[in-house]
Amino acid sequence: MDDKFDCIVIGGGVAGLAASMMLAKANMKFLLIERGEFAGAKNVSGGVLWGNDLAKLVPNYWEEEDGGWERFINHRRLTFMDEQSTFSLDFKSSHFNEKPYTGVVVLRSKFDNWLSGKVQEAIDASDYAMDSFIATNIKVDEVLMENGKAVGIKTGEDEFHADSVIIAEGVNNLLTRQVGLQDNYVPADHMLTGIKEIIRFDQEVLEQKFQLNGLSGMSNEFVGWATDGVEGGGFLYTNRDTISLGLVVGIKDMREKKRSPHDLLNHFKTHPTIADIIKDGEIVEYSAHVVSSGDARAMPKELYKDGILIAGEAANLLMNAGKAIQGMDYAMRSGILAAETIIEAKEKGDFSSATLKNYRAKLDQSYVMKDINNFQDAVHLLHTETMQKKVPNLVCDFGRQFFTIKNEPTPKSEKMLLGAIKRHASLWELLKLGFKARKSL
Ligand SMILES: Cc1cc2nc3c(=O)[nH]c(=O)nc-3n(C[C@H](O)[C@H](O)[C@H](O)COP(=O)(O)OP(=O)(O)OC[C@H]3O[C@@H](n4cnc5c(N)ncnc54)[C@H](O)[C@@H]3O)c2cc1C
Repeated sequence: MDDKFDCIVIGGGVAGLAASMMLAKANMKFLLIERGEFAGAKNVSGGVLWGNDLAKLVPNYWEEEDGGWERFINHRRLTFMDEQSTFSLDFKSSHFNEKPYTGVVVLRSKFDNWLSGKVQEAIDASDYAMDSFIATNIKVDEVLMENGKAVGIKTGEDEFHADSVIIAEGVNNLLTRQVGLQDNYVPADHMLTGIKEIIRFDQEVLEQKFQLNGLSGMSNEFVGWATDGVEGGGFLYTNRDTISLGLVVGIKDMREKKRSPHDLLNHFKTHPTIADIIKDGEIVEYSAHVVSSGDARAMPKELYKDGILIAGEAANLLMNAGKAIQGMDYAMRSGILAAETIIEAKEKGDFSSATLKNYRAKLDQSYVMKDINNFQDAVHLLHTETMQKKVPNLVCDFGRQFFTIKNEPTPKSEKMLLGAIKRHASLWELLKLGFKARKSL
């Protein structure tokens, strides 16, 4: 048996693990390389894994109560915030209790490690049980190229050879740049920083606080005062006995406003609504990580080359139009499609871009690129001052009037609304916003 692999997968995050699972199940000989001590050791995410691709990789994963996931989402909330108030769109439905779930909260160090165990089980059951490997604590320094085609990777003094390489290295995509698929300079306004604290409670207390039943969970996104004028938003997700509370904020805007991520998170935590939630909780983890903004202009020039495919956030596949951050589901689907393309290339005996370009076609036909393309205007709209500041202030102002009952005659709601609009924006601005929102959402 020769030493050459069919494929080397770089990165044991969601994209790399999804690709590896598919390769193992298709009896491919591959090597997955992760620089962390274990898969997930270096990963940060809020994080809800949306959709049900996980069930394709690990059927009936929900039967493993102690599997990689924390809670399934059946309660969603989008909150507008001003200095004192919060006004939420709140949706809870037992419809979301059906399996496979449409969203599960995960903590990445646990989830990735669990999924990596499942990949190992698939390797053990494959024809290449002794020849496919998951190698951790190894950083890939370089993708080896010969005549414009990838032929393997280099780590320190060691070289490993393969017919193909899937680069799933995440948002800090240095190898994608090395192979010439991404410009070395990515503008800072296309990038955000995510900051997150994990706050622990007694499990019963947490379940009462959020009215959770069994393993049900809640996801909550925040727009407005949360980020103190810096573009971005907040999030809160319920885990088993902790919550993930954090922000994603624009790197350029944060630098221009001379704010730090830590300082902004502390600001968010002082809001009366948040302070009530986190009271008596114990901070057990703090982490920060760069995250794409969802601006398609940050994507690599192409996602394939002779012998190479780019998957997950290395390809800047992410969307956040205000409703949810979708990065892990995109990573999972792109990892699956990349592996499918490699499997087809092996059958054809052709790993050149003539075959690998099918990956791009598959991705374009999938919900990933369809949504990224369809919702670009919504991504940009979310980052405007109107959406970041004026709308949350207006909505909270209206809410305060609407829900206040005094021993005085109550004005009609329309009058309250017009008053709130006047104080925070103009009718013209809102008409423009409505028009843009109608087209972009
Ligand atoms: C604060 C925050 C909140 C988020 N919330 C959500 C959410 O709620 N829902 C959601 O879907 N997404 C969320 N995201 C986005 C999501 O985390 C990413 O989109 C997703 O992790 C991308 O997966 P990936 O596999 O492409 O990359 P990653 O998860 O970053 O994995 C890349 C892997 O490659 C490894 N690696 C990198 N370079 C090398 C190298 N040279 N050699 C070997 N290994 C290497 C890394 O160690 C890492 O394990 C959030 C992100 C942040 C920061």
